[in-house]
Amino acid sequence: MNNRKDVKNFTLEEFEKELENISEPDYRARQIFSWIYKRLAGDFSAMDNIPKPLREKLAQSYYIGAITPLKHLKSRDRTEKVLFRLEDGNLIESVLIYAGRRVTLCISTQAGCKFACLFCASGMNGFKRNLAVSEILSQIISLERNLKYKITNYVFMGMGEPLDNYENVSKAIKIMNSKYGMGIAARRITVSTSGLVPGIEKFKGLGLQVNLSISLHAINNELRDKLMPINKKYPLDKVLKACEDYVDNGGRMLTFEYVLIKGTNDAEKDIDGLVKIAKRLKAKINLIPYSPIPGVNFQAPMEKDVKTFEDRLLKRGINVTVRESKGRDIMAACGQLAGTQTT
Ligand code: SAH
Repeated sequence: MNNRKDVKNFTLEEFEKELENISEPDYRARQIFSWIYKRLAGDFSAMDNIPKPLREKLAQSYYIGAITPLKHLKSRDRTEKVLFRLEDGNLIESVLIYAGRRVTLCISTQAGCKFACLFCASGMNGFKRNLAVSEILSQIISLERNLKYKITNYVFMGMGEPLDNYENVSKAIKIMNSKYGMGIAARRITVSTSGLVPGIEKFKGLGLQVNLSISLHAINNELRDKLMPINKKYPLDKVLKACEDYVDNGGRMLTFEYVLIKGTNDAEKDIDGLVKIAKRLKAKINLIPYSPIPGVNFQAPMEKDVKTFEDRLLKRGINVTVRESKGRDIMAACGQLAGTQTT
């Protein structure tokens, strides 16, 4: 019983092989995937186009994993945050953000985070572990089950560093994108990274039109080293070189995320540096006003200063947007996901 395998950890190709080993044809894997990802079945018993003896046989060796929602918070601005408990008791969070017709789901990829960016709550309690493919996908399925609206966009911007869990994240993306899985168009999926160079290189090989966002946050090593310790391992020039290779090898247009912190990275010289980097890589800039984190000594910028910063970039021909930080009252905004029960 305990060594049953979770079907949601397999890509379609892998599950076809599993079935081949028990002499079952390919199409059964497609049927089972359709039940799990399109009809959101939670066990084999509902799968009425699969003969009962086979369903029973499957249930002896496999199960369909799920995660348990513990808390579902709703913000004044409609943002929703769900705290989930994993089978081993670890906690993760997912966020739903409504903006116009867009309904974006922000997905976690790790319990905790290793990277300890100074301005982010996700790494403050350390790193617990990578999420399994199934646990990544379960965040989507659990929310879809109860949702009145269709999720339109999926961002890997919850807890953790997606490219530090590349294998599971890439498999989850394949299942999300597969027509036999969730059938989500790749361009509706975005992966955000703190700049793991080997991960960016691997991501190129995914061969899907998934969007890549890079957390830049500083235009020189001196400041980036302080804000994001990972910069000491993969300094800015190496990150930008990896980005360049990505773009030159047919990657989609990149986005640089830039957390705007009052008095830290919002000066004229920062604008100059951003313009240079964005032009070099023909990239977009997404400004994220810093969301306050308890115990962190940074200040959020004033709204008018964010606007001025944006305007200055626009005037210099940069494609720039400001990410509205939603859900602050329920600690659901960027960088506020700590995976704790305190809210
Ligand atoms: N580990 C990935 C995903 C992180 S979350 C990454 O680093 O890209 C998505 C974005 O939110 C990142 O750009 C992250 O740096 C940013 N962020 C973290 N803490 C923040 C805060 N307190 N305010 C605003 N944005 C924050």
